[in-house]
Amino acid sequence: MNTRNDPKPSQLPRNACPACACEQAKVFALTSDIAHETSDETFEYLRCSRCSTIFMNHPPAPEKMGRFYPEQYDQHVFSLDTESQGRLDRLAEKFHAKICCRYPFFKLRQNFFNRMSPDDLFLDYGCGAGEALNQARARGAQTVGVDFVDALLDELNKQGHRGLSATSDWASDVLALGGASKIRLNHSLEHVHDPRSLLKQIAATANPGCRLQLSVPNPQGLSATLFGRSWWGLEAPRHLVLVSAKQICSFLEEVGFKVTDVCTEPTGKDIARSFGLAGWRHSLLRDKNVARNLHRNGLALMLGLPLGMAAAMAGRGDRLHIYAERA
Ligand SMILES: [Zn+2]
Repeated sequence: MNTRNDPKPSQLPRNACPACACEQAKVFALTSDIAHETSDETFEYLRCSRCSTIFMNHPPAPEKMGRFYPEQYDQHVFSLDTESQGRLDRLAEKFHAKICCRYPFFKLRQNFFNRMSPDDLFLDYGCGAGEALNQARARGAQTVGVDFVDALLDELNKQGHRGLSATSDWASDVLALGGASKIRLNHSLEHVHDPRSLLKQIAATANPGCRLQLSVPNPQGLSATLFGRSWWGLEAPRHLVLVSAKQICSFLEEVGFKVTDVCTEPTGKDIARSFGLAGWRHSLLRDKNVARNLHRNGLALMLGLPLGMAAAMAGRGDRLHIYAERA
């Protein structure tokens, strides 16, 4: 499948921005599923002129999204084996992790889990295989995981968590258990058609004082700005709405949360991978798999890291982290 050369922007009728309803938007990207190659289709993304949210124009209906999710869906893992990393690559990765853990986003996440106690009901929306649920349970919390991938739910239930389908009335189940006191949406908001409605549902399940951690790719980050259609965080077609920080904060305040912290991450990984995709599109890199795994190359990571650090200082890191508390 040759997706190096995308078609020119079309004159398709446009949807209003799903985040702020503004009807003024510019074409941000035309791209296909570069990460997982589940389809040959081209997807058009627009950037809202008012709130800077990036969204897919005319997304497939929710019930038709399943075919774009590979069985073992994990956007960070591809077929390149770990053996292809040399000693220097692994050293670079360790150094990258050491630098990143000095930043506020890391400490905020640690605090979020450190404050978990047996009195808590922890709701992880988009919980995947349940890594965060296990972390919360290790601190005694009652754990509820919601996910789109039904195949994961049985396994979660077997492990003693409460696994609920995102297509079920999960909010009522959480309320029946007494409501949530800690909630996490880690890279899940960008997968839904209507992020505003999801945050409303989330708020309805949150008890007073409930702490919320929300992380998404940053549509105003350095890689989105520099690489456009090759921006790794676009993850077409699985990412439908990439809401800007300002708009997420406004939604949260609207549904009764008080935003306490907003920060971005200094990671150089998304810069390296976006650079890889751009290089592949321009035939500088011949192997797509190498392009997709450029974040595991020590040199690319070390070049990306200072850029990521500078971007995070300016609030333009590639991953956005927002913490809030229910009034
Ligand atoms: Zn907007």
